[in-house]
Amino acid sequence: MRRRLQGLRALMQREELPAFLITHPPNCRYLSGFTGSSGVLLVTEDSSYLITDSRYREQARREAAGFTIILREGALAPELQSLLEEKGLERLGFEGEYLPFSSYNKFASGCGVELVPTGGLVEKLRAVKDEVEIGLLRRGAALADEAFNYILGVIRPGLTEQQVALELEFYQRRKGAEGIPFPYIVASGVRGSLPHGVAGSKVLREGELVTIDFGAIWKGYATDMTRTLALGRPSQRQREIYRVVKEAQERAREGLKAGMYCSEADALARHPINEAGLGKYFGHGLGHGVGLEVHEKPVLSRRSEEILRPGMVVTVEPGVYIPGWGGIRIEDMLLVEEDGAESLTNSGRELVIL
Ligand code: ZN
Ligand code: ZN
Repeated sequence: MRRRLQGLRALMQREELPAFLITHPPNCRYLSGFTGSSGVLLVTEDSSYLITDSRYREQARREAAGFTIILREGALAPELQSLLEEKGLERLGFEGEYLPFSSYNKFASGCGVELVPTGGLVEKLRAVKDEVEIGLLRRGAALADEAFNYILGVIRPGLTEQQVALELEFYQRRKGAEGIPFPYIVASGVRGSLPHGVAGSKVLREGELVTIDFGAIWKGYATDMTRTLALGRPSQRQREIYRVVKEAQERAREGLKAGMYCSEADALARHPINEAGLGKYFGHGLGHGVGLEVHEKPVLSRRSEEILRPGMVVTVEPGVYIPGWGGIRIEDMLLVEEDGAESLTNSGRELVIL
């Protein structure tokens, strides 16, 4: 945690911010360890405060070691004002994306300091994972593999998409996962053309492809993985398009490495899909960072100007979605390294035929 605060202070210095208010819960958790749902952090050059309320008295002391805990009774603005006045600070940075307009107004009239909006400071730190985080993501990814292996023995025509989603969730929660990071996608048959087709009441049928996109939260960290499988003998076209997506995903997995622009990583997978004439059916970006949130920095897309760094954990998830026909996506979580990338999820990528 100390390292993380040091990283933040370096960024604050660069932005000329003597004080910084953190209101986004995953950012608070990242910097302090506090997992409560109500609390903000105030970080200055030499102090760090967790401001919460009496419900979190014990939890805050236990989790946020090194932070001065303030249990506020009234509104947050006057509390902040007195802390800032005490230190003679006149500029306060805040997270522009995570401070509701109504709260901003209260602070603006109640704090008596200059409020400076910032974007993505803590997110920038969070993009590169430390050893502890990598360990948790690795453990979560292994559980996703285990869950996928389990579901292969469960899926059969006649089940609904929702039943498949529930089985996957129960399996992981029984093994200790805290919850799910997003509503699972189980998209069968023609519904496969919906890249975000949340599991519904549709019944799985013989001859369909099924795309399953799922994960879990393991000690705060999200996992995210997708496989597409066939119920019964796949058609020629299903096999052919699967081969293209699989090759695209493999090229990205094998070519990804630190130092590369995220847009270059995207191109690794996009190229073979374009070559096969399917480019217009691959509408989204290659992937995204995964950590305390399931979608975080960096963004791997055609337009992304971010650079991959060692320690980033990102997804690689090319897909082809053809309206009226269906879709195919394969997604893994990769740990970016100096000269390559290691896949944290390792379920087979050959087309599984059930
Ligand atoms: Zn996913
Ligand atoms: Zn994803």
